[in-house]
Amino acid sequence: MARELIDAITCDWHAALPGSPSPTRATHVRILENGKEIDVCDFCAWLFDFYYPRREAVLELLQPGVLDALFRSARDRHPPRRVPAQLTLAAGGQPPLAELPPGTAATGKGNKRKTKNGAWKDDEVQVRCPLPHRAPSPRKYWVDLRNRTGHAHSHKKGNGEGYNGPDIAFVLQDDQKFTHFCTQHQVCAEAGGYGFLNAASLNAHHNKSKSWAPATQEARDAAETQLQEQAAA
Ligand SMILES: [Zn+2]
Ligand SMILES: [Zn+2]
Ligand SMILES: [Zn+2]
Repeated sequence: MARELIDAITCDWHAALPGSPSPTRATHVRILENGKEIDVCDFCAWLFDFYYPRREAVLELLQPGVLDALFRSARDRHPPRRVPAQLTLAAGGQPPLAELPPGTAATGKGNKRKTKNGAWKDDEVQVRCPLPHRAPSPRKYWVDLRNRTGHAHSHKKGNGEGYNGPDIAFVLQDDQKFTHFCTQHQVCAEAGGYGFLNAASLNAHHNKSKSWAPATQEARDAAETQLQEQAAA
């Protein structure tokens, strides 16, 4: 089996996983946007054809904050029936809200996913959202850093479109510091650089935001100058 796999072509996508993923046999070829070819296994071929072109929408829908909102919005079924296993898994292994005794959903201890929206959490890196929120939200409204894009989308512009992350002047919690900044997109450059805690997060942003308009050279230069000045200050 191992011998066979060594001789076979292995899946480039699985091989790109961090660590040393076990080799997966490639059975398909796909062409990337840059015109180059990759070998992929059955699963990755399917992922490439179906999810990859829709990845922004998919990643957005799978954000923990979005799933929380989805679970909170779910209505009771009469009579209550069992929720499919996949949904149980999607909720992070927690029993679905519909199956909890009334009143426990919001207060279940050790169930930090049910923390009130906007409340400070000790175990998450957070940004403060300066925009107004629906009552009875806390006046200082905290958002998990990793959910800031989804949260930004929940605020609507005049035309009904959601904001992008860099449109909102999120304030990072005091004891954290952005070290990596995106100036490649117009919206990021106009914000004076969109900040991240590390290279991996910046990279993920680039991967997720390929559809965003690229920054003009002028906007980019202005943002980079501003960042250099801030770093020197
Ligand atoms: Zn694969
Ligand atoms: Zn907000
Ligand atoms: Zn950007």
